[in-house]
Amino acid sequence: MEKILRRKSRKIMVGNVAVGGDSPISVQSMTNTLTSDVKATVEQIRRQEAVGCDITRCSCPDEASAKALKEITKQVNIPIVADIHFDYRLGILAADNGAACLRINPGNIGGADRVKEVVKAAKANGCSIRIGVNGGSLDKKLLTKYGEPCAEAMVESALEQAKMLEDNDFREFKISVKSSNTLMMIDAYRRLAAACDYPLHLGVTEAGGLRAGTVKSALGIGALLMEGIGDTLRVSLTADVEEEVKTGYEILKALDLRHRGVRIISCPTCARRGYDVQKTVEELERRLSHVSQNLTLAVMGCVVNGPGEAAHADFGVCGGHDGNMLYIGGKPAYKVQNENIVSELVRLVEEKVS
Ligand code: SF4
Repeated sequence: MEKILRRKSRKIMVGNVAVGGDSPISVQSMTNTLTSDVKATVEQIRRQEAVGCDITRCSCPDEASAKALKEITKQVNIPIVADIHFDYRLGILAADNGAACLRINPGNIGGADRVKEVVKAAKANGCSIRIGVNGGSLDKKLLTKYGEPCAEAMVESALEQAKMLEDNDFREFKISVKSSNTLMMIDAYRRLAAACDYPLHLGVTEAGGLRAGTVKSALGIGALLMEGIGDTLRVSLTADVEEEVKTGYEILKALDLRHRGVRIISCPTCARRGYDVQKTVEELERRLSHVSQNLTLAVMGCVVNGPGEAAHADFGVCGGHDGNMLYIGGKPAYKVQNENIVSELVRLVEEKVS
């Protein structure tokens, strides 16, 4: 099976996390607390960190939020991207108060002088920038030219804004061209990938709730990753922030691009199952969510497909009516009763990662 060949992109730093080049594809999320509420924001970021979030983003709609970054960044371990719109002064304030990156669109902060000021603050603070073009907020000039939001318009906007930063001798930036339309987003990123070597931040914006948003993101982000496009990603979900991170990792795991935590291979179950596979998987997911090491578990209902899957997993269980066979390192080891499957697998995993 051939590995995915990644597009060659320039490497930038978001705090201590490298984005682009040969660095691992990072998983991002965003807080939904008031950034000015330091306690709530720190608590949420710690929850994101616990499930493997590499970078998070905080909205800075006012001075209090931008200033709060100073305290927040002291209390968390992952870099923070400050989300800025329109007011260039908030960008400067966020950079001065610990933001590792500014998500700001040079085209909507009011002219070349202001872009220059923001770039000056970014350079002084070792801060990178994300140009975040969004299909839903393209500027009027491009909408008039193209008639409606489209991939060409998004890419033109991104490259125009990239030029504004390059004119200030600044190249520490990544770009996103998100749309809530999956096909438009794929088209835009493909065009952008061919037009520049800047690292690309992938996302389907306003993707929806947990199920719909996961499917849309897996298709949009996944299609691009399969072509080698994408250096960092955020799955946008109207759901708990931890879900965004977990889903991001699931997409990367499915493409063998990055692994984190226990990967459970489980069958859909049928009348042949020897135990309650669904309940077992739910319980294992819950009890093993703290494990960051890369391990595979095969949780299979019976001998039809069980031994085959278990042979390639670190640990496995295969249902049977006279006891369920537990597999260790791909080999049958001993039998466990239904009520002991979860505790036995958890014990084996925890022993292996300790
Ligand atoms: Fe059914 Fe067995 Fe296949 Fe699971 S592994 S779906 S229990 S036949």
